[in-house]
Amino acid sequence: MPAAADAPLIAMRGVTKTYSGITALEDVGFSIAAGEAVSLAGENGSGKSTLIKILAGVEQRDSGEISFGGQPQNGLTPRTAAAAGVKVIFQDFSLFPNLTVAENIGFSAELGAGHRLVNRGRVRALAEATLQRLGVQIDLDARVESLPVAHKQLVAICRALATEARLIIMDEPTTALTGREVATLLGIIRRLKADGVAVLFVSHKLAEVLEVCEHVVVLRNGRKVAEGPAAEFDQAKLTRHMTGRDVADAPPEALPPDAPLLMAVRGLAKAGAFAAVDFDLHGGEVLGISGLLGSGRTSLAKALFGLVIPDTGSVRVDGRDVALGDPLAAAHAGIGYVPEDRLTEGLFLTQSILRNVGIGRLEAHGRAAGVLDLAGLWADATDWLKRLAVKAPRVTAEVRSLSGGNQQRVVLARWLSRSPRVLVLNGPSVGVDVGSKAEIHGIIRELSAQGLGVIVISDDLPELLTTCHRILVMKDGRITDELAGGTAEADLARRLAS
Ligand code: ADP
Ligand code: MG
Repeated sequence: MPAAADAPLIAMRGVTKTYSGITALEDVGFSIAAGEAVSLAGENGSGKSTLIKILAGVEQRDSGEISFGGQPQNGLTPRTAAAAGVKVIFQDFSLFPNLTVAENIGFSAELGAGHRLVNRGRVRALAEATLQRLGVQIDLDARVESLPVAHKQLVAICRALATEARLIIMDEPTTALTGREVATLLGIIRRLKADGVAVLFVSHKLAEVLEVCEHVVVLRNGRKVAEGPAAEFDQAKLTRHMTGRDVADAPPEALPPDAPLLMAVRGLAKAGAFAAVDFDLHGGEVLGISGLLGSGRTSLAKALFGLVIPDTGSVRVDGRDVALGDPLAAAHAGIGYVPEDRLTEGLFLTQSILRNVGIGRLEAHGRAAGVLDLAGLWADATDWLKRLAVKAPRVTAEVRSLSGGNQQRVVLARWLSRSPRVLVLNGPSVGVDVGSKAEIHGIIRELSAQGLGVIVISDDLPELLTTCHRILVMKDGRITDELAGGTAEADLARRLAS
Protein backbone atom coordinates (compact mmCIF):
# COMPACT_ATOMS: atom_id res chain seq x y z
CA MET A 1 0.00 0.00 0.00
CA PRO A 2 1.35 3.47 -0.82
CA ALA A 3 1.80 5.03 2.61
CA ALA A 4 1.16 8.69 3.15
CA ALA A 5 3.82 10.15 5.42
CA ASP A 6 2.97 9.51 9.07
CA ALA A 7 -0.35 7.85 8.27
CA PRO A 8 -0.95 4.76 10.40
CA LEU A 9 -0.90 1.41 8.65
CA ILE A 10 -4.58 0.92 9.41
CA ALA A 11 -7.06 3.45 10.79
CA MET A 12 -10.74 2.94 11.58
CA ARG A 13 -13.31 5.47 12.70
CA GLY A 14 -16.93 5.08 13.72
CA VAL A 15 -17.23 1.56 12.32
CA THR A 16 -20.75 0.20 12.83
CA LYS A 17 -22.26 -3.09 11.75
CA THR A 18 -25.63 -4.65 12.42
CA TYR A 19 -26.87 -8.10 11.48
CA SER A 20 -30.64 -8.13 11.02
CA GLY A 21 -31.27 -5.92 14.02
CA ILE A 22 -28.38 -7.16 16.20
CA THR A 23 -25.70 -4.53 16.66
CA ALA A 24 -22.41 -6.38 16.36
CA LEU A 25 -20.24 -3.23 16.28
CA GLU A 26 -21.06 0.33 17.16
CA ASP A 27 -18.88 3.34 16.52
CA VAL A 28 -15.57 1.52 16.88
CA GLY A 29 -12.32 3.24 16.00
CA PHE A 30 -8.60 2.68 16.57
CA SER A 31 -5.43 2.51 14.55
CA ILE A 32 -2.44 0.24 14.11
CA ALA A 33 1.06 1.37 13.20
CA ALA A 34 3.55 -0.63 11.13
CA GLY A 35 5.36 -3.21 13.26
CA GLU A 36 2.97 -2.69 16.15
CA ALA A 37 1.16 -5.51 17.94
CA VAL A 38 -2.34 -4.65 19.11
CA SER A 39 -4.51 -6.91 21.23
CA LEU A 40 -8.20 -6.85 20.52
CA ALA A 41 -9.78 -8.23 23.66
CA GLY A 42 -13.39 -8.91 24.53
CA GLU A 43 -15.66 -11.64 25.78
CA ASN A 44 -17.41 -14.00 23.41
CA GLY A 45 -19.93 -12.09 21.33
CA SER A 46 -18.31 -8.69 21.90
CA GLY A 47 -17.73 -8.14 18.17
CA LYS A 48 -14.09 -9.15 17.66
CA SER A 49 -14.63 -11.48 14.72
CA THR A 50 -17.00 -9.02 13.07
CA LEU A 51 -14.36 -6.31 13.22
CA ILE A 52 -11.79 -8.63 11.64
CA LYS A 53 -14.14 -9.63 8.86
CA ILE A 54 -14.76 -5.99 8.04
CA LEU A 55 -11.03 -5.20 7.97
CA ALA A 56 -10.46 -8.20 5.74
CA GLY A 57 -13.26 -7.25 3.33
CA VAL A 58 -15.25 -10.38 4.13
CA GLU A 59 -18.13 -8.34 5.56
CA GLN A 60 -19.16 -4.79 4.70
CA ARG A 61 -19.57 -2.13 7.37
CA ASP A 62 -22.86 -0.19 7.59
CA SER A 63 -21.02 3.05 8.28
CA GLY A 64 -17.68 4.42 9.41
CA GLU A 65 -14.32 4.97 7.77
CA ILE A 66 -11.35 2.71 7.18
CA SER A 67 -8.05 3.76 5.69
CA PHE A 68 -4.91 1.82 4.86
CA GLY A 69 -1.75 3.93 4.90
CA GLY A 70 -3.89 7.07 4.78
CA GLN A 71 -5.87 5.89 1.73
CA PRO A 72 -9.63 5.67 2.39
CA GLN A 73 -10.95 2.20 1.65
CA ASN A 74 -14.46 1.91 0.34
CA GLY A 75 -15.93 -1.35 -0.83
CA LEU A 76 -13.11 -3.49 0.57
CA THR A 77 -13.10 -7.05 -0.71
CA PRO A 78 -11.00 -9.98 0.49
CA ARG A 79 -8.89 -9.45 -2.63
CA THR A 80 -8.22 -5.76 -2.18
CA ALA A 81 -7.55 -6.17 1.53
CA ALA A 82 -5.10 -9.00 0.87
CA ALA A 83 -3.43 -6.99 -1.91
CA ALA A 84 -2.92 -4.19 0.61
CA GLY A 85 -1.14 -6.65 2.91
CA VAL A 86 -3.94 -7.37 5.38
CA LYS A 87 -3.89 -11.12 6.06
CA VAL A 88 -6.19 -12.96 8.40
CA ILE A 89 -5.38 -16.28 10.02
CA PHE A 90 -8.93 -17.50 10.53
CA GLN A 91 -9.65 -20.14 13.13
CA ASP A 92 -9.90 -22.89 10.53
CA PHE A 93 -6.62 -21.70 8.88
CA SER A 94 -8.15 -22.24 5.37
CA LEU A 95 -5.24 -24.44 4.26
CA PHE A 96 -5.32 -27.14 1.57
CA PRO A 97 -5.14 -30.34 3.59
CA ASN A 98 -3.96 -32.59 0.77
CA LEU A 99 -1.16 -30.30 -0.38
CA THR A 100 2.29 -30.18 1.18
CA VAL A 101 3.64 -27.57 3.56
CA ALA A 102 5.76 -26.04 0.79
CA GLU A 103 2.79 -25.87 -1.58
CA ASN A 104 0.51 -24.28 0.98
CA ILE A 105 3.06 -21.63 1.82
CA GLY A 106 4.32 -20.93 -1.67
CA PHE A 107 1.40 -21.32 -4.08
CA SER A 108 -0.52 -18.13 -3.49
CA ALA A 109 2.65 -16.05 -3.64
CA GLU A 110 3.58 -17.75 -6.89
CA LEU A 111 0.14 -17.18 -8.41
CA GLY A 112 -0.08 -13.67 -6.99
CA ALA A 113 3.20 -12.82 -8.69
CA GLY A 114 1.46 -13.49 -12.00
CA HIS A 115 3.36 -16.62 -13.02
CA ARG A 116 1.18 -18.73 -15.29
CA LEU A 117 2.92 -21.92 -14.38
CA VAL A 118 3.82 -22.88 -10.86
CA ASN A 119 7.55 -23.37 -10.52
CA ARG A 120 8.10 -26.04 -7.86
CA GLY A 121 11.67 -24.96 -7.20
CA ARG A 122 10.60 -21.39 -6.55
CA VAL A 123 7.70 -22.49 -4.35
CA ARG A 124 10.03 -24.64 -2.27
CA ALA A 125 12.68 -21.98 -1.92
CA LEU A 126 10.13 -19.40 -0.87
CA ALA A 127 8.56 -21.76 1.67
CA GLU A 128 11.95 -22.61 3.09
CA ALA A 129 12.97 -18.98 3.37
CA THR A 130 9.70 -18.09 5.10
CA LEU A 131 10.00 -20.88 7.65
CA GLN A 132 13.54 -19.74 8.34
CA ARG A 133 12.42 -16.17 8.76
CA LEU A 134 10.29 -17.37 11.68
CA GLY A 135 12.87 -19.84 12.92
CA VAL A 136 10.46 -22.77 12.64
CA GLN A 137 11.24 -26.28 11.49
CA ILE A 138 8.52 -28.17 9.68
CA ASP A 139 9.02 -30.80 6.98
CA LEU A 140 8.37 -29.03 3.65
CA ASP A 141 7.07 -32.23 2.07
CA ALA A 142 4.63 -33.22 4.80
CA ARG A 143 0.99 -33.11 3.77
CA VAL A 144 -0.74 -30.42 5.80
CA GLU A 145 -3.55 -32.74 6.94
CA SER A 146 -0.97 -34.86 8.78
CA LEU A 147 0.32 -31.93 10.87
CA PRO A 148 -0.66 -31.14 14.45
CA VAL A 149 -2.80 -28.04 14.89
CA ALA A 150 0.07 -25.87 16.10
CA HIS A 151 2.03 -26.60 12.92
CA LYS A 152 -0.96 -25.94 10.69
CA GLN A 153 -1.20 -22.56 12.30
CA LEU A 154 2.47 -21.84 11.65
CA VAL A 155 2.01 -22.85 8.02
CA ALA A 156 -0.90 -20.41 7.76
CA ILE A 157 1.25 -17.65 9.23
CA CYS A 158 4.06 -18.49 6.81
CA ARG A 159 1.66 -18.40 3.89
CA ALA A 160 0.59 -14.90 4.93
CA LEU A 161 4.23 -13.81 5.22
CA ALA A 162 5.13 -15.26 1.83
CA THR A 163 2.65 -12.87 0.23
CA GLU A 164 3.95 -9.61 1.65
CA ALA A 165 1.93 -9.27 4.81
CA ARG A 166 1.84 -5.80 6.38
CA LEU A 167 -0.73 -6.71 9.04
CA ILE A 168 -1.40 -10.25 10.24
CA ILE A 169 -4.67 -10.67 12.08
CA MET A 170 -5.05 -13.73 14.29
CA ASP A 171 -8.53 -14.66 15.51
CA GLU A 172 -8.36 -16.48 18.86
CA PRO A 173 -5.14 -18.19 17.74
CA THR A 174 -4.40 -19.98 21.00
CA THR A 175 -7.72 -21.78 21.42
CA ALA A 176 -6.40 -25.17 20.34
CA LEU A 177 -2.82 -24.83 21.57
CA THR A 178 -1.05 -26.26 24.60
CA GLY A 179 0.88 -24.03 26.99
CA ARG A 180 4.17 -24.66 25.24
CA GLU A 181 2.70 -24.02 21.79
CA VAL A 182 1.25 -20.74 23.02
CA ALA A 183 4.73 -19.71 24.14
CA THR A 184 6.08 -20.55 20.67
CA LEU A 185 3.33 -18.51 19.02
CA LEU A 186 3.99 -15.53 21.25
CA GLY A 187 7.66 -15.78 20.28
CA ILE A 188 6.67 -15.76 16.61
CA ILE A 189 4.59 -12.65 17.14
CA ARG A 190 7.62 -10.90 18.62
CA ARG A 191 9.65 -11.89 15.57
CA LEU A 192 6.99 -10.56 13.23
CA LYS A 193 7.01 -7.23 15.01
CA ALA A 194 10.79 -7.04 14.90
CA ASP A 195 10.44 -7.65 11.16
CA GLY A 196 8.14 -4.63 10.81
CA VAL A 197 4.94 -6.66 10.40
CA ALA A 198 1.99 -5.42 12.44
CA VAL A 199 -0.13 -7.92 14.35
CA LEU A 200 -3.72 -7.69 15.50
CA PHE A 201 -4.02 -10.38 18.15
CA VAL A 202 -7.60 -11.27 18.99
CA SER A 203 -8.25 -13.10 22.22
CA HIS A 204 -10.34 -13.27 25.33
CA LYS A 205 -7.47 -14.70 27.41
CA LEU A 206 -6.09 -12.10 29.74
CA ALA A 207 -2.51 -13.19 30.22
CA GLU A 208 -1.85 -13.48 26.49
CA VAL A 209 -3.52 -10.22 25.70
CA LEU A 210 -1.13 -8.42 28.01
CA GLU A 211 1.97 -10.39 27.16
CA VAL A 212 2.66 -9.84 23.48
CA CYS A 213 1.11 -6.54 22.64
CA GLU A 214 2.10 -2.97 23.33
CA HIS A 215 -1.41 -1.70 22.80
CA VAL A 216 -4.76 -3.04 23.98
CA VAL A 217 -8.25 -2.35 22.64
CA VAL A 218 -11.19 -3.78 24.60
CA LEU A 219 -14.63 -4.40 23.12
CA ARG A 220 -17.79 -5.04 25.11
CA ASN A 221 -21.19 -5.51 23.49
CA GLY A 222 -19.86 -4.18 20.20
CA ARG A 223 -18.44 -0.97 21.65
CA LYS A 224 -14.89 0.02 22.40
CA VAL A 225 -14.85 0.42 26.18
CA ALA A 226 -11.13 0.86 26.80
CA GLU A 227 -7.91 1.42 24.91
CA GLY A 228 -4.32 2.13 25.90
CA PRO A 229 -0.76 0.89 26.30
CA ALA A 230 -0.62 -2.69 27.59
CA ALA A 231 1.60 -1.45 30.41
CA GLU A 232 -1.36 0.47 31.81
CA PHE A 233 -3.49 -2.68 32.13
CA ASP A 234 -3.34 -5.59 34.49
CA GLN A 235 -5.60 -8.62 34.54
CA ALA A 236 -8.04 -7.16 37.04
CA LYS A 237 -8.45 -3.96 35.04
CA LEU A 238 -8.81 -5.87 31.80
CA THR A 239 -11.43 -8.14 33.34
CA ARG A 240 -13.32 -5.15 34.62
CA HIS A 241 -13.46 -3.63 31.15
CA MET A 242 -14.30 -6.88 29.39
CA THR A 243 -17.11 -7.81 31.78
CA GLY A 244 -18.16 -4.40 33.09
CA ARG A 245 -17.90 -5.79 36.62
CA ASP A 246 -15.45 -5.94 39.44
CA VAL A 247 -13.94 -9.33 39.99
CA ALA A 248 -12.43 -10.32 43.30
CA ASP A 249 -8.83 -11.40 42.92
CA ALA A 250 -7.65 -11.61 46.50
CA PRO A 251 -6.67 -15.08 47.75
CA PRO A 252 -9.14 -16.77 50.12
CA GLU A 253 -8.99 -16.06 53.85
CA ALA A 254 -6.94 -18.44 55.98
CA LEU A 255 -8.64 -21.65 57.10
CA PRO A 256 -9.73 -21.83 60.72
CA PRO A 257 -7.13 -23.86 62.68
CA ASP A 258 -9.79 -26.38 63.72
CA ALA A 259 -10.89 -27.19 60.15
CA PRO A 260 -11.56 -30.95 60.18
CA LEU A 261 -9.46 -33.38 58.17
CA LEU A 262 -11.57 -34.47 55.22
CA MET A 263 -9.35 -36.44 52.90
CA ALA A 264 -5.97 -38.06 53.43
CA VAL A 265 -3.91 -39.37 50.53
CA ARG A 266 -0.88 -41.52 51.39
CA GLY A 267 1.79 -43.06 49.21
CA LEU A 268 -0.35 -42.99 46.11
CA ALA A 269 1.63 -44.25 43.14
CA LYS A 270 1.13 -45.44 39.62
CA ALA A 271 4.08 -46.55 37.52
CA GLY A 272 4.84 -44.08 34.76
CA ALA A 273 2.37 -41.49 36.05
CA PHE A 274 2.96 -40.41 39.67
CA ALA A 275 4.63 -41.65 42.84
CA ALA A 276 4.76 -41.09 46.59
CA VAL A 277 1.84 -38.67 46.61
CA ASP A 278 0.91 -37.59 50.14
CA PHE A 279 -1.42 -34.79 51.09
CA ASP A 280 -4.27 -33.83 53.39
CA LEU A 281 -7.36 -31.84 52.53
CA HIS A 282 -9.39 -30.08 55.21
CA GLY A 283 -13.01 -29.05 55.28
CA GLY A 284 -13.38 -25.67 53.60
CA GLU A 285 -9.96 -25.89 52.04
CA VAL A 286 -9.23 -25.17 48.39
CA LEU A 287 -6.10 -27.07 47.42
CA GLY A 288 -4.41 -26.39 44.09
CA ILE A 289 -2.38 -28.94 42.19
CA SER A 290 -0.25 -27.53 39.42
CA GLY A 291 2.44 -28.82 37.14
CA LEU A 292 3.53 -28.56 33.56
CA LEU A 293 2.09 -30.82 30.90
CA GLY A 294 3.24 -34.36 31.61
CA SER A 295 3.86 -33.69 35.32
CA GLY A 296 1.25 -36.27 36.28
CA ARG A 297 -1.33 -33.84 37.61
CA THR A 298 -4.15 -35.07 35.38
CA SER A 299 -3.51 -38.76 36.14
CA LEU A 300 -3.46 -37.93 39.84
CA ALA A 301 -6.75 -36.03 39.59
CA LYS A 302 -8.34 -38.96 37.81
CA ALA A 303 -6.89 -41.43 40.32
CA LEU A 304 -8.57 -39.53 43.16
CA PHE A 305 -11.89 -40.29 41.49
CA GLY A 306 -11.07 -43.86 40.47
CA LEU A 307 -10.68 -43.11 36.78
CA VAL A 308 -7.03 -44.14 36.91
CA ILE A 309 -6.06 -47.19 38.94
CA PRO A 310 -3.10 -46.57 41.25
CA ASP A 311 -0.64 -49.41 41.95
CA THR A 312 -0.32 -48.64 45.65
CA GLY A 313 -1.32 -46.13 48.29
CA SER A 314 -4.52 -45.09 49.99
CA VAL A 315 -7.22 -42.44 49.79
CA ARG A 316 -9.34 -41.91 52.92
CA VAL A 317 -12.39 -39.69 53.23
CA ASP A 318 -13.71 -38.97 56.73
CA GLY A 319 -11.36 -41.62 58.05
CA ARG A 320 -12.64 -44.40 55.81
CA ASP A 321 -10.65 -46.03 53.04
CA VAL A 322 -12.02 -45.49 49.55
CA ALA A 323 -11.64 -48.44 47.17
CA LEU A 324 -9.13 -47.37 44.51
CA GLY A 325 -9.83 -47.41 40.81
CA ASP A 326 -13.59 -47.43 41.29
CA PRO A 327 -15.47 -44.22 40.38
CA LEU A 328 -18.69 -45.49 41.95
CA ALA A 329 -16.94 -46.14 45.26
CA ALA A 330 -15.36 -42.69 45.05
CA ALA A 331 -18.75 -41.10 44.40
CA HIS A 332 -20.30 -43.01 47.33
CA ALA A 333 -17.50 -41.81 49.56
CA GLY A 334 -18.50 -38.25 48.67
CA ILE A 335 -15.91 -37.42 46.04
CA GLY A 336 -17.10 -35.49 43.00
CA TYR A 337 -15.10 -34.97 39.83
CA VAL A 338 -15.53 -32.33 37.15
CA PRO A 339 -13.43 -33.24 34.11
CA GLU A 340 -11.36 -30.82 32.10
CA ASP A 341 -13.00 -31.76 28.88
CA ARG A 342 -16.56 -31.42 30.05
CA LEU A 343 -17.77 -31.69 26.47
CA THR A 344 -16.60 -35.22 25.93
CA GLU A 345 -16.24 -36.53 29.45
CA GLY A 346 -18.82 -34.78 31.52
CA LEU A 347 -22.00 -34.06 29.66
CA PHE A 348 -24.65 -35.62 27.48
CA LEU A 349 -24.78 -32.79 25.00
CA THR A 350 -27.98 -33.69 23.23
CA GLN A 351 -29.91 -34.23 26.46
CA SER A 352 -31.67 -31.59 28.48
CA ILE A 353 -29.99 -29.58 31.20
CA LEU A 354 -32.36 -31.11 33.70
CA ARG A 355 -31.49 -34.62 32.68
CA ASN A 356 -27.78 -33.89 32.86
CA VAL A 357 -28.15 -32.61 36.40
CA GLY A 358 -30.65 -35.29 37.36
CA ILE A 359 -28.30 -38.14 36.48
CA GLY A 360 -26.30 -37.26 39.59
CA ARG A 361 -29.37 -37.65 41.79
CA LEU A 362 -31.04 -40.53 40.04
CA GLU A 363 -29.20 -43.05 42.12
CA ALA A 364 -29.91 -41.46 45.46
CA HIS A 365 -33.58 -40.84 44.75
CA GLY A 366 -34.19 -44.17 43.10
CA ARG A 367 -32.59 -46.25 45.82
CA ALA A 368 -34.16 -44.53 48.79
CA ALA A 369 -37.70 -44.62 47.50
CA GLY A 370 -37.66 -47.84 45.55
CA VAL A 371 -39.30 -45.91 42.75
CA LEU A 372 -38.17 -42.84 40.87
CA ASP A 373 -39.24 -39.64 42.54
CA LEU A 374 -39.41 -37.53 39.41
CA ALA A 375 -40.88 -34.52 41.14
CA GLY A 376 -38.05 -34.61 43.66
CA LEU A 377 -35.48 -34.89 40.92
CA TRP A 378 -36.98 -31.98 39.06
CA ALA A 379 -37.17 -29.76 42.15
CA ASP A 380 -33.62 -30.57 43.18
CA ALA A 381 -32.11 -30.02 39.78
CA THR A 382 -34.01 -26.78 39.24
CA ASP A 383 -32.87 -25.57 42.62
CA TRP A 384 -29.21 -26.20 41.83
CA LEU A 385 -29.48 -24.62 38.40
CA LYS A 386 -30.88 -21.53 40.08
CA ARG A 387 -28.23 -21.49 42.81
CA LEU A 388 -25.46 -21.74 40.25
CA ALA A 389 -27.11 -19.11 38.06
CA VAL A 390 -27.09 -21.27 34.94
CA LYS A 391 -28.18 -19.03 32.10
CA ALA A 392 -30.50 -21.03 29.90
CA PRO A 393 -33.79 -20.36 28.12
CA ARG A 394 -35.37 -23.27 30.05
CA VAL A 395 -34.22 -26.31 31.99
CA THR A 396 -35.39 -28.61 29.23
CA ALA A 397 -33.06 -27.00 26.67
CA GLU A 398 -30.28 -29.17 25.27
CA VAL A 399 -26.96 -28.75 27.02
CA ARG A 400 -25.15 -28.16 23.74
CA SER A 401 -27.07 -24.91 23.27
CA LEU A 402 -25.33 -23.38 26.32
CA SER A 403 -22.11 -21.37 26.47
CA GLY A 404 -18.96 -23.02 27.86
CA GLY A 405 -19.28 -21.38 31.26
CA ASN A 406 -22.88 -22.50 31.61
CA GLN A 407 -22.05 -26.05 30.56
CA GLN A 408 -19.40 -26.11 33.26
CA ARG A 409 -22.04 -25.01 35.75
CA VAL A 410 -24.36 -27.81 34.69
CA VAL A 411 -21.60 -30.33 35.49
CA LEU A 412 -21.12 -28.64 38.86
CA ALA A 413 -24.85 -28.71 39.53
CA ARG A 414 -24.91 -32.43 38.87
CA TRP A 415 -22.24 -33.06 41.48
CA LEU A 416 -23.53 -30.61 44.01
CA SER A 417 -26.98 -32.16 43.92
CA ARG A 418 -25.35 -35.28 45.41
CA SER A 419 -23.96 -33.32 48.37
CA PRO A 420 -20.31 -34.31 47.93
CA ARG A 421 -17.64 -33.82 50.64
CA VAL A 422 -14.73 -33.34 48.26
CA LEU A 423 -14.91 -31.88 44.78
CA VAL A 424 -12.05 -32.43 42.32
CA LEU A 425 -12.11 -29.78 39.59
CA ASN A 426 -9.82 -30.54 36.70
CA GLY A 427 -9.20 -27.29 34.81
CA PRO A 428 -12.40 -25.63 36.05
CA SER A 429 -12.23 -22.68 33.70
CA VAL A 430 -10.61 -24.15 30.59
CA GLY A 431 -12.45 -22.77 27.58
CA VAL A 432 -14.76 -20.37 29.39
CA ASP A 433 -14.65 -16.59 29.04
CA VAL A 434 -13.41 -14.28 31.79
CA GLY A 435 -16.83 -13.39 33.12
CA SER A 436 -17.85 -17.03 33.54
CA LYS A 437 -14.42 -17.81 34.92
CA ALA A 438 -14.82 -15.21 37.63
CA GLU A 439 -18.23 -16.66 38.45
CA ILE A 440 -16.83 -20.19 38.66
CA HIS A 441 -14.19 -18.88 41.06
CA GLY A 442 -16.98 -17.27 43.08
CA ILE A 443 -18.75 -20.62 43.22
CA ILE A 444 -15.56 -22.33 44.44
CA ARG A 445 -15.37 -19.78 47.24
CA GLU A 446 -18.97 -20.37 48.22
CA LEU A 447 -18.52 -24.13 48.26
CA SER A 448 -15.45 -23.91 50.43
CA ALA A 449 -17.29 -21.51 52.76
CA GLN A 450 -19.88 -24.26 53.18
CA GLY A 451 -17.18 -26.66 54.34
CA LEU A 452 -16.57 -28.59 51.14
CA GLY A 453 -13.00 -29.58 50.34
CA VAL A 454 -12.09 -28.51 46.82
CA ILE A 455 -9.11 -29.68 44.76
CA VAL A 456 -8.34 -27.48 41.75
CA ILE A 457 -6.07 -28.94 39.08
CA SER A 458 -4.94 -26.17 36.80
CA ASP A 459 -2.10 -24.63 34.84
CA ASP A 460 -3.70 -21.22 35.04
CA LEU A 461 -1.43 -19.63 37.63
CA PRO A 462 -3.56 -16.56 38.46
CA GLU A 463 -6.52 -18.90 38.90
CA LEU A 464 -4.62 -21.04 41.40
CA LEU A 465 -3.22 -18.08 43.28
CA THR A 466 -6.58 -16.38 43.74
CA THR A 467 -8.73 -19.42 44.52
CA CYS A 468 -6.47 -21.72 46.58
CA HIS A 469 -5.34 -21.79 50.18
CA ARG A 470 -2.37 -23.95 49.24
CA ILE A 471 -0.83 -25.04 45.94
CA LEU A 472 1.08 -28.28 45.44
CA VAL A 473 3.60 -28.27 42.61
CA MET A 474 4.03 -31.53 40.69
CA LYS A 475 7.02 -32.48 38.61
CA ASP A 476 7.80 -35.82 37.01
CA GLY A 477 4.95 -37.41 38.92
CA ARG A 478 6.00 -36.20 42.36
CA ILE A 479 4.94 -33.37 44.60
CA THR A 480 8.06 -31.24 44.73
CA ASP A 481 6.87 -28.05 46.34
CA GLU A 482 4.07 -26.36 48.23
CA LEU A 483 3.15 -22.68 48.18
CA ALA A 484 0.55 -20.57 49.94
CA GLY A 485 -2.25 -19.02 47.86
CA GLY A 486 -1.61 -15.35 47.21
CA THR A 487 2.10 -15.96 46.53
CA ALA A 488 3.47 -13.86 43.67
CA GLU A 489 2.73 -15.36 40.27
CA ALA A 490 6.39 -15.15 39.27
CA ASP A 491 7.30 -17.31 42.28
CA LEU A 492 4.91 -20.05 41.30
CA ALA A 493 6.05 -19.88 37.68
CA ARG A 494 9.67 -20.24 38.78
CA ARG A 495 8.94 -23.23 41.00
CA LEU A 496 7.00 -24.90 38.18
CA ALA A 497 9.81 -24.42 35.73
CA SER A 498 12.83 -25.10 37.94
P1 ADP B 1 -16.70 -12.32 19.04
O1 ADP B 1 -15.82 -12.67 17.89
O2 ADP B 1 -16.16 -11.22 19.90
O3 ADP B 1 -17.08 -13.51 19.85
P2 ADP B 1 -18.69 -11.75 17.00
O4 ADP B 1 -18.11 -10.65 16.20
O5 ADP B 1 -18.59 -13.11 16.45
O6 ADP B 1 -18.07 -11.70 18.48
O7 ADP B 1 -20.22 -11.45 17.30
C1 ADP B 1 -20.71 -10.18 17.73
C2 ADP B 1 -22.22 -10.20 17.74
O8 ADP B 1 -22.74 -10.25 16.43
C3 ADP B 1 -22.82 -11.39 18.46
O9 ADP B 1 -23.97 -10.97 19.13
C4 ADP B 1 -23.15 -12.34 17.34
O10 ADP B 1 -24.22 -13.17 17.72
C5 ADP B 1 -23.54 -11.38 16.24
N1 ADP B 1 -23.23 -11.93 14.91
C6 ADP B 1 -22.00 -12.19 14.42
N2 ADP B 1 -22.06 -12.65 13.16
C7 ADP B 1 -23.38 -12.72 12.84
C8 ADP B 1 -24.11 -13.11 11.68
N3 ADP B 1 -23.49 -13.53 10.56
N4 ADP B 1 -25.45 -13.03 11.73
C9 ADP B 1 -26.09 -12.59 12.83
N5 ADP B 1 -25.47 -12.19 13.95
C10 ADP B 1 -24.13 -12.25 13.97
MG1 MG C 1 -14.89 -14.58 17.52
